Formats: sequence, structure tokens, C-alpha cells
Amino acid sequence: MAEKKETKKPAEEKAAKKPASKASEKPYSTAGATERRIGAVICWLAAIACEIVAICLYSGKIEITFMNTIVALVALLVIDLILVIVGSMLWKKANHIDPASEKNKVKFFLWNNMGVIACIVAFLPFIIMILTDKENTDPRMKKIAGIAAAIAIVIGVLFSIDWHPISEEAKSEQVKYQNSVYYTQFGKKYHLYGDCQHINTSDSKTEASVEEAINHGCNDVCKTCADKYEKENGKSYLDIQAAVEEGAK
Ligand SMILES: [Zn+2]
Repeated sequence: MAEKKETKKPAEEKAAKKPASKASEKPYSTAGATERRIGAVICWLAAIACEIVAICLYSGKIEITFMNTIVALVALLVIDLILVIVGSMLWKKANHIDPASEKNKVKFFLWNNMGVIACIVAFLPFIIMILTDKENTDPRMKKIAGIAAAIAIVIGVLFSIDWHPISEEAKSEQVKYQNSVYYTQFGKKYHLYGDCQHINTSDSKTEASVEEAINHGCNDVCKTCADKYEKENGKSYLDIQAAVEEGAK
């Protein structure tokens, strides 16, 4: 007799393999979130250290002889910006792996905007110092450093904003709902159907659980897929999400 083949879907296997979370009741794994948050904080502290050095350099508290002060200031601001952005990327990833609860509005806001706050702290004091500096002897340095810092804070804030934040409640409900979805490298939504027109030709199409899609940064379902789902099932995927959001308020 022919051996009976196991036809379990990969997503089901994954769900079965997943160990029960001991630390919390969350229906998804939060592994890796804490390490990323620590990494983010280290980056941000290093960014602020760069800013402090830049302030000391600008105000003449420290002097360097091996390179032009203006070049050194701009270099410090660039390193400051890179550290802010890397920190914010790590922090945003951690927020998708382990999102904050919507129940605490203040924490939810702070958690999602921590990168923006870090960016402001890493640049604003420097900018204020330049704006309030009345007796600097070098107007060229003031102008160049001021413009560089202004550009850096704008870029830093834009990179630090989480344009698609997710809450603990929304993630908990979504990971329960569908087992197998699709996402692409740079997509912002996950798809219920592998042959969806938006991902049909994508080389980076990945089949995954909703949890993995959300961790990747795709926290919403694709509209086209949701419409198709509704037609096939007579039940709206989006309605269920909306009901969850209502419940969380
Ligand atoms: Zn789709």
C-alpha cells in the first residue's frame, strides 16, 4: 500500500510548532523585540553623544587641529543622522514584532513616536544653540552648520515616523484570523491571494503567516484581496478588522 502523504500546509505546521508563550498571553512571538529596542536606544545615545561633541566644537569648548572645524561639524551631524535613522529602524521593527496596546493612549503614542522624539533630542539643542548664538566669530560656520542640522532633523524625523503603526490589539486579532498570506519586500499590505494582481509579478512574493507579514511591516490587508474575499465568503475581512478596532476603543 502506498504511503499516505502528509498534506499539511506550511502555515499550519508553523502554528503547530509554535511553543506556547510563557511570558505573556499574546498570540504571537515577541522574540527579538527587546534586543532591537536596546540596539535602538544605544544608537540614539550615540547620536546624542555626537551632538554634544558638535556643540562643544561649535562653541569652542574643544578644538581640533587635524581637520577643518566646519567639515568636522558636518561629519558629526551626518553620523548623528545615520545613528538616529538606524535606531529608528530597529525601534519600528520592534514595534511591529511587539506592538504597544491601544488601551493606553499615551504609551501607544510615545511608543510609536519614540524615534521622532529621539531625533528631536539629537538635533534640536544644536539648532537652538546656533539660532541663539549672537557672538559667534564665524558666520560661515554658523550658516553651514545651521543648514546641515536643519536638513538632518527633517530627514531624521521623516525616517523615524512609523507611517503604518500597529497596536497589540490589531495584531492579536489579525494573527488569529488568517493563517497564510503573502507579502512583498517593499509592500505595505499583505495579500490573501497569491495571484493578486498587485503581487502577481513580484519576485519577492513570500508566503507567510499574518504575524510574519506584520513583523515585516505589512499590517493591513490589501483592498483588492479583501474585496475578493468578501465576494467568495459573503463576509467582509475589513468588517471584522473594523469590529476589532471598535472593541479596542
Ligand atoms: Zn492583494
